[in-house]
Amino acid sequence: MSYRCWVAALGIWALMVAAATAAPPLKALIVDGQNNHYWKQTTPLLKQQLEQTGLFSVDVATSPPKGQDMSGFRPDFAAYDVVVSNYGGGGDPWPEETKKALEDYMEAGGGLVIYHSANNAFPEWKQYNQMIAVGGWGGRNEKDGPYVRWRDGKVVFDMTPGPGGSHGPQHEFQLVVRRPDHPITKGLPEVFMHSADELYNRLRGPAKNLTVLATAFSPKDKSGTGEHEPMLMTIRYGKGRVFHTVLGHAPKQLKSVAFIVTFQRGAQWAATGKVTQKVPDDFPGPDKPSVRE
Ligand code: ZN
Repeated sequence: MSYRCWVAALGIWALMVAAATAAPPLKALIVDGQNNHYWKQTTPLLKQQLEQTGLFSVDVATSPPKGQDMSGFRPDFAAYDVVVSNYGGGGDPWPEETKKALEDYMEAGGGLVIYHSANNAFPEWKQYNQMIAVGGWGGRNEKDGPYVRWRDGKVVFDMTPGPGGSHGPQHEFQLVVRRPDHPITKGLPEVFMHSADELYNRLRGPAKNLTVLATAFSPKDKSGTGEHEPMLMTIRYGKGRVFHTVLGHAPKQLKSVAFIVTFQRGAQWAATGKVTQKVPDDFPGPDKPSVRE
């Protein structure tokens, strides 16, 4: 081999090493610390699922426990491409500066993922409720906005008075894609099965700048509404993008490929507005859930 060939080979090798060791392009921050759910168990799984895409490096910001001094809880949202909230129902309010920092971050074009019971958090925080579009519990009712349902091929805002947030016993259910043209849902089967989970119903909130990507039918014989309820949503807040998934009650449900893939795609979309991930071969169809052990 000539000297030139050796130099070229060395150059290629150096490029390969650089590519293999390069930091993932996106930075994600998972926020947790208070939640009436298994946040200590689910945060490591969410972190792992983001890292498995090869797209994200992930940090975690954990608040003080309930009832403790929150004044020092100041995550640097602006340093991240996407913030994933695993801060849930019953959580103490954040300091005003921290709330304002999230609002400013989102106004300026940030990314936010609302995971399951994060939509139970902060019933009194007006801007947060605009970010999540709909939420449950925490005294939410008709004062907070409509129920959001899918009827006759479109989103319907239902102002019937009543409490916001409910679910029946866990069961397997199908998700039906309503916006197959969206980057998050593009290429997914129109109907796919999720493993046994809480099927949130009767969520309500301001529901502004909301796109419903997928719904699930909430059967009355499972303490449901007899309505198609929103399961996967996007919301525009200022220049920011929100992906809201109501799926994933506990570690068990985070093994569902329907959860994993929509979460990974939703996080990339919230961070960048695009999705480059391929739909994996183990993605479920309409008949039975797919689970990764
Ligand atoms: Zn739950």
